[in-house]
Amino acid sequence: MIIANWKMNGSKEEVGSWLKFVSSNILINKEIPCVFCPPSCYLDYSSSLIKEISSPVKLGSQNINFSNDSALTGGINSQMLKDFLTDYVLIGHSEQRDYLNEDNESLQYKIKDTLKKNISPIFCIGEPKTIKDENLTKDYLRSQLEILDSLDSDQIVIAYEPIWAIGTGENADKIYIEEVHGFIKEFSLQELNFKEKVSVVYGGSVKLENCEDILSSSEVDGLLIGGASLDPDTFSKIYNLS
Ligand code: PEP
Repeated sequence: MIIANWKMNGSKEEVGSWLKFVSSNILINKEIPCVFCPPSCYLDYSSSLIKEISSPVKLGSQNINFSNDSALTGGINSQMLKDFLTDYVLIGHSEQRDYLNEDNESLQYKIKDTLKKNISPIFCIGEPKTIKDENLTKDYLRSQLEILDSLDSDQIVIAYEPIWAIGTGENADKIYIEEVHGFIKEFSLQELNFKEKVSVVYGGSVKLENCEDILSSSEVDGLLIGGASLDPDTFSKIYNLS
């Protein structure tokens, strides 16, 4: 799975030209979903355009709110995402954990809610630099992963995004990624009671120059790409190398 996370970037025009370019330049492999996560205000437009041009691109939301209570100004819920034919939703991105104070309880609610609506949660986890430097990464990830206990579902995807690698230009190296992904997969079987190894994608300063090396690891099931996904040519090339 190759995921474009546009964060708070772009305009309607740019969304349109990106979708048209990517749709006609990727060599789609049905086993490798190509997922576009635009800002929420462009979900409706993206959904209509994907349909209109018969695009192979799947739609993902960057967010969903923690409650279905209608009294949440600015909220967006899973039923609304279904109306836009959204297949995926990013949950627990470090920027939202930080700025919106998202905690394990609200994140678990979101995951359960999306699963009920048959939307695949892409659950983002990752450690800050201080934790890495103290060799505490696995303990840190354990505390983020435990909210998935017994939620066994082949729809759950984990995005491992070390915080120190997001938007910094400094990606984690392949050996480190392999070790962490291997740990997450084992943990999902041993401690979370999943029946099968969970899919784990890597995110953090992925670019054209490093994507092949990262993807060459058998522990890496895909990529979550921020900055480098904005350019449709770069993103299409990365997808085609996957
Ligand atoms: C992200 O936004 O999740 C991300 C990984 O960003 P970047 O690729 O720019 O590091």
